[in-house]
Amino acid sequence: MIKFCSLFSGSDGNCQFISSGHTSILVDAGLSGVKVQNEMKKLGLEPSQLDGIFVTHEHIDHIQGVGVLSRRFDIPVYATEKTWLAMESKVGKIKEKNCKLIAADQDYCLQDLLIQPFHISHDASEPLGFNVLNDKKKISLLTDTGCVNDYIVSKMRGCHIVLIESNHDEELLKVGPYPWSLKQRIMSEWGHLSNDNAAEFLKVLLNGGEHVFLGHLSRENNFPELAYKTVTYSLSEHQSLWEQNVTVHMTHRDRASTILEI
Ligand SMILES: [Zn+2]
Ligand SMILES: [Zn+2]
Repeated sequence: MIKFCSLFSGSDGNCQFISSGHTSILVDAGLSGVKVQNEMKKLGLEPSQLDGIFVTHEHIDHIQGVGVLSRRFDIPVYATEKTWLAMESKVGKIKEKNCKLIAADQDYCLQDLLIQPFHISHDASEPLGFNVLNDKKKISLLTDTGCVNDYIVSKMRGCHIVLIESNHDEELLKVGPYPWSLKQRIMSEWGHLSNDNAAEFLKVLLNGGEHVFLGHLSRENNFPELAYKTVTYSLSEHQSLWEQNVTVHMTHRDRASTILEI
C-alpha cells in the first residue's frame, strides 16, 4: 500500500507526506519546522519516524523547514548537487551524514520506496518532479513547472495519485496586482502552470481511476473553487475520463488534505 497526504500546498509553502507504512518521507518542507511538526502530530504522524526529506528546488516555499526538521529529528535530506549549492545558506548546517545527493533520471531505493526524480521547467537551479512507488502503486508530484512536455508525461504515465500544480487563473493573473515582470515570469515556460494548463495536461496524462490533487494555488491569482471548477469542467468534457471516475481533491495552504491510502 502507499499513503499520500498533502500537509500544506500553496504559494506560501509546500510539504507532501508519503508512506508505505514501513518507510515515510516528505517531499519538501516549505513551512516552519514547527508548523510541519504540528500538522503531522494532528494526523497522528511522528516526525521522528521520517526516513527522508526530498527537495524539489531551493525556493523558500519548498525548503523553509528542511534544516530545522533535519537537525531536530536527525532526518536525511535528498537534493541534487546544484540544489544543495543554492540552498546551503538558507537551510543552515545539516549533518554531513544527512546530506544526500540525488539526480534526475536516476532511480533511488529508500527501503521499500522507489523514488524517481525527473526534470521540470522552473526558474531554479535544478528543479525536480518526483514519482514515488511502492507495491506497483505510483504517486507523481508535479509543481513549479512553467510547461509540460512529452518527457514529463512519459515519466508520470501510469500514476495512481497525482499532485499537479494549478497555480493561477490566467485572467486573474493578468488583471491582478503583480508587476508586469512578475506576471511574465509566472506565465513563462520557467514559471507556473495555470488552471487551464493543469486541465489540459491531465487530459493527456490520465487513463481513468486516478486521484488528482490540485496544488500550489496562488493566494492572489486563484481561488480553490475556481481551480476545482476549471479542472473538473474540462475533465467532464473529456467524457471517457469522467466516466472512468477520475477523482479531484483540493489541497490547502494552511492544513492537510484528505489522507489517501491505495
Ligand atoms: Zn519555485
Ligand atoms: Zn513553489
